[in-house]
Amino acid sequence: MPRAIVGIGGNLGARRAIFACAEALLAAQSGCCLLARSQLYATPALGPPQPDYLNGAFAIAWDGDAHGLLDMLRHVEQLLGRARRERWGARTVDLDILHWSAAPIATPSLTVPHAELERRTFALAPLLDVAPDLAVTYQAVLEGLGGAPALAVPGWLLLAHASPGAPRSSPAERAAWAQLLVGTVAQCGELT
Ligand code: ATP
Ligand code: MG
Ligand code: MG
Repeated sequence: MPRAIVGIGGNLGARRAIFACAEALLAAQSGCCLLARSQLYATPALGPPQPDYLNGAFAIAWDGDAHGLLDMLRHVEQLLGRARRERWGARTVDLDILHWSAAPIATPSLTVPHAELERRTFALAPLLDVAPDLAVTYQAVLEGLGGAPALAVPGWLLLAHASPGAPRSSPAERAAWAQLLVGTVAQCGELT
């Protein structure tokens, strides 16, 4: 299966709880197998004035094409309350495809590697956490930008997940789990 590196960012609500639910929702999607999560980084916002961001990344194995992955990520964003009002505006969660192990993609709806990857320390640093084999391409770029941003949450550890091919639950079980998690997000305060 192709490997994708998915960047996650958010600056609204209970960010760590939302990120934890995003991770669980990704793991629950058909065709998606979570391989690793990065550390979490704190960065000032781009765009209009808004709260600071948390950023991270997941490595996943994805049993499909990249456009199908983008659709799946938008679905998870919507489950977690993502609303698009203004470009680069504040959001509960943003899930972007940073890197894709198959050929580069340049279509109107999808550019991979992500068009801004080489200008964003908050994308490069977590990408290198979960894909150290990409250091040959991106480590020098990150250092040229000044290095990794500050770690936001020292206790949020790099984690290797179950290997690809682990048994999947049924679609009905995944849907029920997703609903439960979304309900949990609403009740969670910011975890510190
Ligand atoms: P940025 O792309 O600068 O990180 P953003 O993530 O806030 O901004 P979104 O509103 O999430 O922007 O997405 C805008 C559009 O970007 C989407 O409709 C999607 O089709 C397109 N897009 C192009 N390449 C990618 C990619 N690699 N990952 C995610 N979305 C992408
Ligand atoms: Mg983005
Ligand atoms: Mg996005």
